[in-house]
Amino acid sequence: MGVPLDFDEAKELDVREPLTELRNEFEIPKHSDGTDQAYFAGNSLGLLPKRTRPAIKEALDQWGGKGVGGHFDGEEAWYQLDESIAALQTDIVGCLPSETGIMGSLTTNLHMLMASFYKPTSERQKILIEPHAFPSDRYAAAAQVAWHGGNPNTDVVTLEAENPDHLTPDDLERTLHHHKDICLALLGGVNYYTGQFLDIASMSPILKSQEITFGLDLAHAAGNVPLELHDWEIDFASWCTYKYLNAGPGSIAGYFVNHKHHTDKRLIRLAGWWGNDPDTRFDMHGQEHFIPRQSADGWKTSNPSLLAMIPLKESLEMFAEHGIVALRERSARLTKYFEKGIKAIKNISTITPTDPKRRGCQISVRVPGSASDLEEQLIGCGVVPDARDPDILRFAPVPMYTTFTDIARAVQELDRLVAN
Ligand SMILES: *Cc1c(COP(=O)(O)O)cnc(C)c1O
Repeated sequence: MGVPLDFDEAKELDVREPLTELRNEFEIPKHSDGTDQAYFAGNSLGLLPKRTRPAIKEALDQWGGKGVGGHFDGEEAWYQLDESIAALQTDIVGCLPSETGIMGSLTTNLHMLMASFYKPTSERQKILIEPHAFPSDRYAAAAQVAWHGGNPNTDVVTLEAENPDHLTPDDLERTLHHHKDICLALLGGVNYYTGQFLDIASMSPILKSQEITFGLDLAHAAGNVPLELHDWEIDFASWCTYKYLNAGPGSIAGYFVNHKHHTDKRLIRLAGWWGNDPDTRFDMHGQEHFIPRQSADGWKTSNPSLLAMIPLKESLEMFAEHGIVALRERSARLTKYFEKGIKAIKNISTITPTDPKRRGCQISVRVPGSASDLEEQLIGCGVVPDARDPDILRFAPVPMYTTFTDIARAVQELDRLVAN
């Protein structure tokens, strides 16, 4: 039996291809034999950039040394640090600096944003979600419906797709034709399960033409694929930063609000002092009314956690240094190489689109037998995928730290285990 991918070729690619050395800037988890793991779970939890440890130590020193003075004192003062960090993500999601911020966590932010953007009426009250929606999104949509007194069993509608693994603009048109009472679409930019990169540019005008608000969950898209939230006229979006953005477990999330909504007084916000005009934020007496900032910042509520912001700052600086375009190119080559290896293995197939434009760096593989059993066996060989039972293994060759050799190793072990 031949080896599906040639190790010498993989090693040569690692020498020849740009950005291989970026891996050295990360802490790579170890296999039980002391060697580096071949880590393909960066779509669940991105790895730790080496620069993050000293940066956190520095932040602690600043707190220890300055106390409350740290808010305003020095270059790295905490006050408005959230704004300078958010400015680093405009290229990643494709928006104006005023359209993006960091706060809270992904699901919390979806609720905060839906509080403004889900406005059911007696004519139109349904929320559209995707097949294979991530559970949290489904729960959030259902809870919003119930919160407004609606019926989640009828008012959360799933996009009717000919093939639920590949959603098309035609599917969207058809669904909207059947449901005239949808007021909000909440869809994933890259689906966590199939790895499909939604054709957002084609879908947005369809939704716009029927005056349906368009919100995106970008958990698997931010830092993975190029996004143009502003040009696509997305209304709102949020993303966690612990997957492709490497900011650590449960780290502070990012969000987007289209500029056309910033001064809309009809949008009710669940207000808090951090969304208020900074000039009067500390005006504890006298100011009775919330004066929202005229930007995405107007949706903030609270003073953000310093220790959550620092890892995001370090990580976003790495993205800025290398550029999402170069990373995406490397990602496409790694993913193609992985796909080539998978195709050479008998008895397995992929559910991820084969068109590189319609996917990020994840390949979801349908395996014979139990996915979690196979995952456990692979981890036993130092290869780390992510299982979704019953039969899907997800592999994400993340461009910042995955090598071609990692891929050859994963494919070889998978081939061996599936053959047994
Ligand atoms: C990872 C993920 C989440 C996680 O939400 P948190 O609020 O950060 O726990 C939500 N939605 C999708 C699509 C995800 O992939």
